[in-house]
Amino acid sequence: MKKKLFFCMVMVTICMCACGKKNAATDMESSHDETHLYESQTDISTVEETTQEETALEEVAEETECTEEETTLENAVEAVAEGNIDATEEVKPKQVVICIDPGHGGDSEGTKQEYDGILVMEKNLNYRIATSLKWYLEQNEGVKVILTRNGDYDLSLSNRIKYAVDNNADYFVSVHVNSRSTDEVDSHGCMVLMSCSRYQPSNAKVASVYDSEMRMAKSIISKLNVLGLPIANDWNTENTGGILQRVTTVGETYPDGSLADYYTLLYCGTKAGLPSIIVEHAFLSNKGDYRNFLSTNEKLDALAKADAEAIIESIR
Ligand SMILES: [Zn+2]
Repeated sequence: MKKKLFFCMVMVTICMCACGKKNAATDMESSHDETHLYESQTDISTVEETTQEETALEEVAEETECTEEETTLENAVEAVAEGNIDATEEVKPKQVVICIDPGHGGDSEGTKQEYDGILVMEKNLNYRIATSLKWYLEQNEGVKVILTRNGDYDLSLSNRIKYAVDNNADYFVSVHVNSRSTDEVDSHGCMVLMSCSRYQPSNAKVASVYDSEMRMAKSIISKLNVLGLPIANDWNTENTGGILQRVTTVGETYPDGSLADYYTLLYCGTKAGLPSIIVEHAFLSNKGDYRNFLSTNEKLDALAKADAEAIIESIR
């Protein structure tokens, strides 16, 4: 008599181990106090154990119950190999977590300018762009967006990065609107701030934090240019492709000896191994920039859409 194998259940389990515990304890002490982006720094510590690399693969435990039909072992193996059992179909792409930071908030109003009898505050423009950016980004499969603030309140710069790290963010994008640095030039246009250092901590989220930031920065500038927003004529960014990198003025260094960043967000992001950039979309102080890019929700949403497309292109 032909031997038959009866299966009550075919279990297909694909298991992928989570990565080890991350301990990015980075004590930071600073005497920086030079701009609204710069503040006394506190500890970024206790980066919680990450669960991010625990992908959907780990959850693919597929149960296929037999009914009355008898199945041979050979058939069962073939079915898995051919994908007839859903084991592979449920494997989703790795989720990317992007932390969007609406700059300022609460008492920190950012730059301000009166137009048409109304005092326009940077913090509100940032919030609109950021929330819109979150929506556009999340239209892409496998992208999760977290916001550092969900209302009109302030939080410290170091805590914004800490929040991103604690929530397993892969990228950090701080949303701002600019104001001219001197009275001599009525600056206009866009720029992106990124780290000046190639310091790469061992627990970094990407192969090169510096290269990831550069790629994202260039992509955003390019998309904003297409929208009609030129590279800014301030901080020499017209000669650097719209990218602003500033080193500390107090001689502080990263563990590899390279000079630390001037801006707190970038300093904290680099130390945490988290690609972090600051997007200065347009100049609220410039009437043309305001009228063309900042004066309505629709115009702010267009900036967000350009950002979203640029971010996705740079990370995929
Ligand atoms: Zn700002």
